[in-house]
Amino acid sequence: MSVQLVWLRNDLRIEDNSALIQALNQTEEKGPCVAIYIATPKQWRAHDDAPIKIDFWRRNLIELHSSLKTLGVPLHYFQVATYAEVPQLIQNIIKSWHVDSLHCNAEYPLNEKNRDDAVEALCKEYDISYRCYQDQCLLPPDFVLTGEGNPFKVFTPYAKKTKLILESAGPIKSYGLNIKTVKNEYSIDFPVLDEQLELNKIDWPKVEVWWDQQWPAGEREAHKRLKSFVSSQIQNYKSARDIPALNGTSSLSAYLASGVISVRSCWEAAGSEGLDESARTWRNELLWRDFYKYVMFHYPHVCMHQAWNSNYDNIPWRENHEDFQRWCDGETGFPLIDSAMKQLIETGWMHNRLRMVVAMFLSKNLLLDWRWGERWFMQNLIDGDFSANNGGWQWSASTGTDAAPYFRIFNPIRQSERFDSKGEFIKSYIPALNLENERSVHDPAKLKTSYFDPLIDLKFSRERALTVFKEFKGA
Ligand SMILES: Cc1cc2nc3c(=O)[nH]c(=O)nc-3n(C[C@H](O)[C@H](O)[C@H](O)COP(=O)(O)OP(=O)(O)OC[C@H]3O[C@@H](n4cnc5c(N)ncnc54)[C@H](O)[C@@H]3O)c2cc1C
Repeated sequence: MSVQLVWLRNDLRIEDNSALIQALNQTEEKGPCVAIYIATPKQWRAHDDAPIKIDFWRRNLIELHSSLKTLGVPLHYFQVATYAEVPQLIQNIIKSWHVDSLHCNAEYPLNEKNRDDAVEALCKEYDISYRCYQDQCLLPPDFVLTGEGNPFKVFTPYAKKTKLILESAGPIKSYGLNIKTVKNEYSIDFPVLDEQLELNKIDWPKVEVWWDQQWPAGEREAHKRLKSFVSSQIQNYKSARDIPALNGTSSLSAYLASGVISVRSCWEAAGSEGLDESARTWRNELLWRDFYKYVMFHYPHVCMHQAWNSNYDNIPWRENHEDFQRWCDGETGFPLIDSAMKQLIETGWMHNRLRMVVAMFLSKNLLLDWRWGERWFMQNLIDGDFSANNGGWQWSASTGTDAAPYFRIFNPIRQSERFDSKGEFIKSYIPALNLENERSVHDPAKLKTSYFDPLIDLKFSRERALTVFKEFKGA
């Protein structure tokens, strides 16, 4: 009897999981479906994957293991150090388990693509059917092109075309298979391989208790968040999404980044016809997620630590590690920046408005390399996603797509007055500033409490950044 192997990566769910559904669809004809997960701890470290995110994978695998069990699909765990060892491992599995076909969902970062190319070549050599599905985005990245057949370089026309296609496509959760009705009942004893482990024997990072409380794992939790957001918050999203003190966004990013919920489920949950402006704004954010994957797919040099716009490759960033450390630790003296950096450390997540504010402060005011900040985010975010993070950093540093106006710089004091007008967010992370009033809490020069000296003069640093960026703009 031959086996259909489903290789799970960052698609840790059963609902609307293309690879799993396609494999299950063929069990009657081709044989049982068996799932595998390959841990690669050295690769995780090389990719700066945050311990909180890796632990989230572990906890989601536990949930997934039991939901796969209800479908009769066993899930086996393996561990190798890096992606380089994955093809050899897959070869061993193919040989020992009589694999007929290998199903997986495409991943777009360069290292993942190279790994998958090697696995595809191997499958060819062994005459195994290799089925890699376009599952991560609303539309596959090679599907949306300009009239001349080129990839878009700017979000707005890309989003317009994508929306047109999606809106004429009807329901997008595909495959028409009610997964709950599938049964995959076979009893086979698979030979145990050397790299095979129990889940708890994998080299997981050391766990902190609050991770689980703050970010419960599992598809049920992801759908609960989606349902609650769509039923009571989405109508206020347009105005609430910029206020960090409010719970105005979906908090689904960790679940989307690890594939615990599909982006199609989110898109469809926002509604069908006659969406109001708030729901459309939320869908637009889902399109930003797609867009940055699209940028990574079409411009893979962004995966090699290069600026999307090569004009900016040689900016003379300052090599000041002390300033960087104060930014990381939330000790810059600017209350909004500091509270945002504390939110990252204390929750593994940061509000989108604040991600932009702190990223611009680092790359413009401090003139520190945006890649340092990108790395710090990856090392700490539970939703760390290469494409969204790189895209967000390059957008903020004006080295990426959508760089117009050519010089974009937020003033952290004005941002604070505008988006945290009463200082509620600031005070929730810096209780030492509790006695400040709504006029004094934003500005280091007005604080009555003894606090960190401001790291930089805003006017001077703004002008310095303008001069540098102007020089490289037309380089
Ligand atoms: C410097 C910087 C770094 C970022 N790094 C990441 C990252 O590593 N991982 C990540 O998922 N998002 C990243 N973002 C985007 C955004 O900040 C988060 O997706 C958002 O804050 C998550 O909160 P939410 O789930 O409540 O979002 P919602 O506002 O509810 O949005 C719904 C979903 O849309 C997607 N989304 C929203 N905004 C963006 C955006 N600007 N770009 C791409 N996708 C978006 C996310 O998947 C999000 O869960 C970054 C933004 C910046 C400016």
